[in-house]
Amino acid sequence: MTDVLLRGGLPWGLGAPADILVRDGRIDRVSLGPVEAPGAQVFDVAGQLVLPGLVEAHCHLDKTLYGGPWVPHSADDTLSGRIANDLGRRAELGVPSVARIAALLERMSAAGTTHVRTHTDIDPAAGLRGVEAVREAAAGSPVEVRQVAFPQHGVLTNPGTAELLEEALKSGVEAVGGLDPAGIDRDPVRHLDLVFGLAGRYGTHLDIHLHDGGSLGGWELELIIERTKALGLGGRVAVSHAYALGQLDDAHQDRLVEGLAEAGVAVVTAAVYSFPVPPVKKLRAAGVTVACGHDGIRDLWGPYGSGDMLERAMHLAYRSTFRRDDDIELALEAATVGGARALGLDDYGLAPGDRADLVVVPAGSPAEAVVVHPARTLVMKDGVVLHN
Ligand SMILES: [Zn+2]
Repeated sequence: MTDVLLRGGLPWGLGAPADILVRDGRIDRVSLGPVEAPGAQVFDVAGQLVLPGLVEAHCHLDKTLYGGPWVPHSADDTLSGRIANDLGRRAELGVPSVARIAALLERMSAAGTTHVRTHTDIDPAAGLRGVEAVREAAAGSPVEVRQVAFPQHGVLTNPGTAELLEEALKSGVEAVGGLDPAGIDRDPVRHLDLVFGLAGRYGTHLDIHLHDGGSLGGWELELIIERTKALGLGGRVAVSHAYALGQLDDAHQDRLVEGLAEAGVAVVTAAVYSFPVPPVKKLRAAGVTVACGHDGIRDLWGPYGSGDMLERAMHLAYRSTFRRDDDIELALEAATVGGARALGLDDYGLAPGDRADLVVVPAGSPAEAVVVHPARTLVMKDGVVLHN
């Protein structure tokens, strides 16, 4: 494997230009002085920001129509309308489509994403077709894809789903999902006991979609915190969306944020549409891992999403009304190290010894990279330059 030398870039967090030498798929040296590396492939990236690979921590690859012809959205704009649109038109549009998923992964990779966690629908109608389609597309992509076995249409309310979730985990799916234990399944205690039980038995991660708002959502967060602590699953549990966190009064919010920090439960946000955004600054100040993702990208649920995690970080910063550079940087953190922590990635970062998953952005600062999100100059995965 040829050594690669990135000359004169600005490694995020270092505060000075440096040379980065990559050898055997890992970062070998980060040096403030010039590195001599005879035989290395050299890229002059002077004045450009060098980031670790971007992490898409929440999307739905199996649903995507990316790369195909535009599909007009004319469904009823209600939750039931969107569900009916999704279920009713899948067969006609060939969803899940290995080709569409592959096209989206290619776009994500070109934009510097090196790791993806995707929630794949599992129910008695779809079976494990989505899991297989995502696996097939991921096998041909440099992007590392982890799946969440996702009960999109409920577990308790949709007999046969629990068994399929277990089958998915047995087949190697990396995480189990959940969905509004109260709002959809109407029985949070049984729902959570079931999904936590699966995560414990199979040693997987757990990532629960929680749209339930207000005090109901707050109570479900408490139940998730309790179970994470009781089962010692800290670092392996995430709550996606967690709209309630953005709706409760300060005192209630503070209690929950403290609980999430103590238990080691991560929060994953997409900051889409006008849905409440969790208090990113408060969560980070308390030490809670915050990750970020697109949610749906060009699918039957909605027409938006580009696959670019710097653009998504911009949406998160904007929806959080961040203007200061150090605040905007929190959104970049969610799209990088926060995602890496939520997914449990090893050897992630910009230090010697870390895996050489790198992205070079023509920006002079983290805030500029987020706000402008210009086309990436170079993307590297495990020491291999994929795009430049
Ligand atoms: Zn989702």
